[in-house]
Amino acid sequence: MSQFKEVVTLRAGDADGNCMVARVDTAQGRRIHAIGVPQDNSSRTGPTWAYLFDNGGMTLIDAGATGSYEHLANGVEATGFQVRDIERVIITHGHQDHDGAAGQLAQEADAEIWAHDIYARLLQYNPWDIQRNPSSPLQKEMQRVVSADKVGNSGEAARQSAGYAERQRRYVETRRRFQVSRNLRADDAEGELTFLHAPGHSPDEICVTLDGLVFTGDHVLPEITPHPTTKARFSAEIRKIMPEHYHNEDEYYGLATYLRSLRLIANLGEGVAVMPAHRLFSKGRFNFETTRRAEDIIGHHATRLGRILHRVGDEPTTLEHITRGVFARRKLIGGNLYMALSEIVAHIELLEDTGDLEVSEDMRLRSMGSENYKQLISELG
Ligand SMILES: [Zn+2]
Ligand SMILES: [Zn+2]
Repeated sequence: MSQFKEVVTLRAGDADGNCMVARVDTAQGRRIHAIGVPQDNSSRTGPTWAYLFDNGGMTLIDAGATGSYEHLANGVEATGFQVRDIERVIITHGHQDHDGAAGQLAQEADAEIWAHDIYARLLQYNPWDIQRNPSSPLQKEMQRVVSADKVGNSGEAARQSAGYAERQRRYVETRRRFQVSRNLRADDAEGELTFLHAPGHSPDEICVTLDGLVFTGDHVLPEITPHPTTKARFSAEIRKIMPEHYHNEDEYYGLATYLRSLRLIANLGEGVAVMPAHRLFSKGRFNFETTRRAEDIIGHHATRLGRILHRVGDEPTTLEHITRGVFARRKLIGGNLYMALSEIVAHIELLEDTGDLEVSEDMRLRSMGSENYKQLISELG
């Protein structure tokens, strides 16, 4: 890639990049260390990539998952630096595979935590509770389908989700004690870094640009399409602590929001290289992408919107029927069912807003025969 002068593997990890440490030298000569921090629960996304570089002080972008601090510290040492050299950790968004190890790092390194302005305000809450607080009849229907799912509620799946729930509880507990030193806003800058607010996968997601690169967190990933949020409504409690300019949740949640934020990254220009938080390396090779990847993800969702609309057709049908038609059976087992359903709900919400689809009171979906969503996609910015 022309954005890079050199890419050196400092420590080989496994084929998916777990425990790998690499160095990417930018065309401007800056050394960026990429550390593949394993997650101790099995995750389809693979390790979290943390990035360490000098920008008027050693800066780390993302810290890795809850329980992964030792892996992170070990990776930092393999770069030739020490944990105590780190002056600040920038968190791309408040999901446990990114900030789970940040508290321990901040403590050991005496480092500052920086994140988007919304991040600190939501620290007291489990991010998934905000999403699961159903804000529409369609979201209630989604929860009804999940609880009625016999396969998902049995044996191993239930044990797994119990383990998951325990992990989330520990995570939220730890996070409550974080001290955020700097609340970043869109277009803030620090030295050579600029910050972009890119909500949609998470309301507090930021992307960070440096030397013709953009660190995208989970906003833009190679190989996999990040999970968009469904629309959300803050509880009365959250509304009370949120300044008024954050009260329009539709600016921070949902597929349309996510697509707008993808356009923001695509508009950085084609020559900008993506440094993702997952899948930088997998199946034994690097996945170097440019901002064109953001364009491809927009295309993926455009195709999926069309496919869902086509499947809905003009005979009334159900959310469950559509979801089971779009996803393969193996992707609908256990916790995956919720993810698949919410992915479909995110698309249906957008199609409802554009008037292409109607959800009746008895939760039947019907196509209106229009394809207004295409205009929304073309007018993203
Ligand atoms: Zn995430
Ligand atoms: Zn992630």
